[in-house]
Amino acid sequence: MLVVQKFGGTSVGDLERIGNVARRVARTRDEGHDVIVVVSAMSGETNKLIDYAHHFSPNPDREAMDLLLSSGERVTSALLSIALNEMGYPAVAMTGRQAGIVTDKTHTAARIERIDPKPMRGALEAGRIVVVAGFQGIDPDGRVTTLGRGGSDLTAVAIAGAMGADLCEIYTDVDGVYTTDPRIEPKARKMERISYDEMLELASLGAKVLQNRSVELAKKMGVNLVTRSSFNDNPGTLITKEENIMEKPLVSGIALDRNQARVSLKDVEDRPGIASEIFNALADEAINVDMIVQTIGADGKTEIDFTIPQTEVVRARSAMARFAQSIGAIDYKENIAKVSIVGVGMKSHSGVAAKAFTTMAKENINIEMISTSEIKISMIIDEKYAELAVRALHDAYELDK
Ligand code: ADP
Ligand code: ASP
Ligand code: MG
Repeated sequence: MLVVQKFGGTSVGDLERIGNVARRVARTRDEGHDVIVVVSAMSGETNKLIDYAHHFSPNPDREAMDLLLSSGERVTSALLSIALNEMGYPAVAMTGRQAGIVTDKTHTAARIERIDPKPMRGALEAGRIVVVAGFQGIDPDGRVTTLGRGGSDLTAVAIAGAMGADLCEIYTDVDGVYTTDPRIEPKARKMERISYDEMLELASLGAKVLQNRSVELAKKMGVNLVTRSSFNDNPGTLITKEENIMEKPLVSGIALDRNQARVSLKDVEDRPGIASEIFNALADEAINVDMIVQTIGADGKTEIDFTIPQTEVVRARSAMARFAQSIGAIDYKENIAKVSIVGVGMKSHSGVAAKAFTTMAKENINIEMISTSEIKISMIIDEKYAELAVRALHDAYELDK
């Protein structure tokens, strides 16, 4: 069997933990499997590097950023390979480039375009364990790129897909995917299985246990994905096709995203083409706009509100600068959070949204914006009440049962 094992930041958080990872990988090898390991940077390392860059610039050059950030994962991949070799398990460390991972040119948020299987295949055939630095690749010009925060999950899934691995295990600091973040709600329940679609929604809406694009790719390529703890041997959570799941609860989980900011454009010229100009300017800066609300105008003016990741406020400000003529005032609000309820069962049931709103009302929490899809309901609220809202919703839908 070929197994891809990915270890996150906490799992390789210090030298002792890297040693533990080496022993776990060695155990998989002893079971007779070929192993490709993908590692994150030590926990806190990527944030530290970002802070370094912000010392010099609020909006650092993205190519330089990628070179900087890719270094964290290189350190852990090299250390793990050194540890494995010392234990008598031949291993080779590879950067994204050495592992044949080619991306597009979107620096700091690159997409994987293809993976050349030859370098990894060659090493496996030579009997070695391959240890890949996650979160990175090179663009067609040979420049280092990174895949966006949490991107080592994507590296692991993409490699599993490209190499035809039998299993892709994501090792982290919790036992699997829970009904909500167990650090916020201790009563959260671990799920034995969850569908790709529900996991994709949860991940996209803030449950960082898996990076959303990794789930999307796992679904597309049919990768068998399991999340589990690197600190114990408890069975994890299988992410799989909807038809493999017997129990279909109305609501499967609650997600929280604190990395949200609300932008309010006031006294906007109410004329055809204005929305196109504004949102194209944001798109040109590769800013992901999420919820959008436009209120009915009066006196030739209207108001447009939308949300973006908080980390993109600096770039949004510069993108909006050119609209001084057509927008009266712009207000940025960062202390908001998005709470979301996810479940495929919602498709065929009514009243799920009403219950969410009633729950917020009972807790006296004001809902600032709402958006819904077939399998999710999201609400923007004041960040102060974020955890209270998660726990209240978890209770209301009886997710601990
Ligand atoms: P890693 O460094 O291993 O990639 P992350 O910190 O990215 O780990 O993701 C694991 C964290 O995700 C957990 O510690 C937990 O707090 C958080 N989390 C958020 N939502 C969930 C959820 N529904 N189930 C499990 N963990 C969750
Ligand atoms: N080190 C990167 C991050 O912190 C990638 C990862 O850990 O997956 O976002
Ligand atoms: Mg992660």
